[in-house]
Amino acid sequence: CGIVGYVGPATPSARPLDVTMEGLSRLEYRGYDSAGVALVTPEGLVSAKRAGKLSNLREALEATPLPPATAAIGHTRWATHGAPTDVNAHPHLSEDGRLAVIHNGIIENYGILKEGLLAEQVVFTSETDTEVVAHLLQRAHARSGDLTEAMLEVTGRLEGAFTLLAVHADVPGTVVAARRDSPLVIGLGEGENFLGSDVAAFVSHTSEALEMGQDQVVTITADEVRVVDAAGRPAEARRFTVDWDANA
Ligand code: GLU
Repeated sequence: CGIVGYVGPATPSARPLDVTMEGLSRLEYRGYDSAGVALVTPEGLVSAKRAGKLSNLREALEATPLPPATAAIGHTRWATHGAPTDVNAHPHLSEDGRLAVIHNGIIENYGILKEGLLAEQVVFTSETDTEVVAHLLQRAHARSGDLTEAMLEVTGRLEGAFTLLAVHADVPGTVVAARRDSPLVIGLGEGENFLGSDVAAFVSHTSEALEMGQDQVVTITADEVRVVDAAGRPAEARRFTVDWDANA
């Protein structure tokens, strides 16, 4: 299971998808059963996902190419809740299709959260524990109008282990992420920034990185990396330089 995030220049291009697919292939060694991506484009959010090898996703992307983007998230899944099918693969989208989330880990209290959402007539499309997060984030974002606030509010309600990344069509050029008992590192680029479950996700692009602390939330744009603690206060993440050769 692996996670990649990327935000680049305001001019849409193929780079967000290229960087994300490369990162996913570098994370393949971690093991997985499905893969998927979501892109923020001028036409809104687009996504593709497939059970099986990354090559299945690649074939789907060749058959139905996605438009140029400014940000991307990518996921390889190791199923814990719901069989490894196309539908259960990540990303998972909010009902309006404007928010996408990817998740490594387990949401222990997803059952009770799902009951609450079902009572509000939310329609679920997958069997995953992750999908509750997409619906909760969409609702929290609709209330506050702020994706970072929404992530803080929702992760405050979650029990379990998670690395979560989210993008929203109305917040272009931004990826928001959170972690608890699951790894997440930030890659610092020039006019672009990266997220990964480990540095393999972005090591061919930058060796400058930040290691996120427990329960921190990070918001990356092309030019900025903003880390906050669980209470939303500015926080420090440990800076380090990756010292291995990406081409070795
Ligand atoms: N629990 C989630 C699922 O089964 C995420 C699994 C993972 O870590 O990839 O979809």
